[in-house]
Amino acid sequence: MNNAIYKLKHDADPSTKNKQRKAFIDLKKPCHHKMEECEIDQEVDESKLVSSGTDNGVVNVTETVAFGVDRLKYHLRLYNHFQVLQDENGTFMEENKDAQFQELPRSFKIRSAEIPQQSGLARLTILGQQVANYEADLSQSIGIQHCSTFGKLETAFDQYSQAKTSVRKFYHSKSNAKKKRRYELAKGKYYDRLAAKERRFTHASTPIMFIGDRGHAVVSPFKGHLRFGGHWKELCHSRYTPTLITNEHNSSQTCLWCFSKLSHPYTALDGQVKMTNGSFICLNAACPQKYVVMSRDRLSALAIGLAGAAQLMLGYTFPCFDPKNTTEKQAMFSHLALVFSNRKQQTSSPSVGG
Ligand SMILES: [Zn+2]
Ligand SMILES: [Zn+2]
Repeated sequence: MNNAIYKLKHDADPSTKNKQRKAFIDLKKPCHHKMEECEIDQEVDESKLVSSGTDNGVVNVTETVAFGVDRLKYHLRLYNHFQVLQDENGTFMEENKDAQFQELPRSFKIRSAEIPQQSGLARLTILGQQVANYEADLSQSIGIQHCSTFGKLETAFDQYSQAKTSVRKFYHSKSNAKKKRRYELAKGKYYDRLAAKERRFTHASTPIMFIGDRGHAVVSPFKGHLRFGGHWKELCHSRYTPTLITNEHNSSQTCLWCFSKLSHPYTALDGQVKMTNGSFICLNAACPQKYVVMSRDRLSALAIGLAGAAQLMLGYTFPCFDPKNTTEKQAMFSHLALVFSNRKQQTSSPSVGG
């Protein structure tokens, strides 16, 4: 990590000194933190740094993208061009190596179908299947209190007592306790393999993983989809690599090329014009990414990664992704972004910034 950035980060804003000590992230130490509580260790070679961003989506369970520090610098330069200089006439100067960053990076998806949704225990045995059936029946049965005829009462009572013994037998038997344990172990291994696949996708042995904080709430029905809440994947990752929980503020509403608000594209379907919620489009004519339809979840994954990587490297994140943004923070971010993104090598002009 460069000294100039480190000094700027710490000397310019004395208030950060008074804040609680931050956790220093280095690639050799797996950890699990909130992104705001961390800063990069000065010893880390930024050219080798790989970040990943993960969006905990609604339809696809998770979508992950990976990128190096060059992509972060590219988006910081875009930010400076469009938000700081607000140079309406001048076009953004693309460098040759920037061509690869014009598109959204490839992503790795884990769909809900790949994750065991039920307890799984009930599917293991015939008895378990019976219990599942009883439970389904009972949930539809009118209940003993509400029976109008003796015949109905008798049927309902039979249903109850039959189910009661099976259900008890099932949940309390020794063999099932064993099965349950075996199942939990198998599930843990399955989760670990799935998480490892996601890490392998980044092509780095220890990527810094920024994971969106959405889905940290309990599983809740959301427009008919089950949002897969819980922390299993980040817990798996945090045993192997730095894993940082990142605020998702505005992560899918902002263009990552010109930083203006995105719109949903409209498509004509069967003579009807419909808005497509799962994707976004930038309508800013000056934007390098104008009129390109982008997938919402993938865009959000990149936004989470960039927001996290900026916070980690500069101590400030893009103002649009900061829910507690202030003008002071915005000014510091712009300054640091300029210094950081224009710095070619450690040996470049001695009087950076100013
Ligand atoms: Zn968590
Ligand atoms: Zn744009």
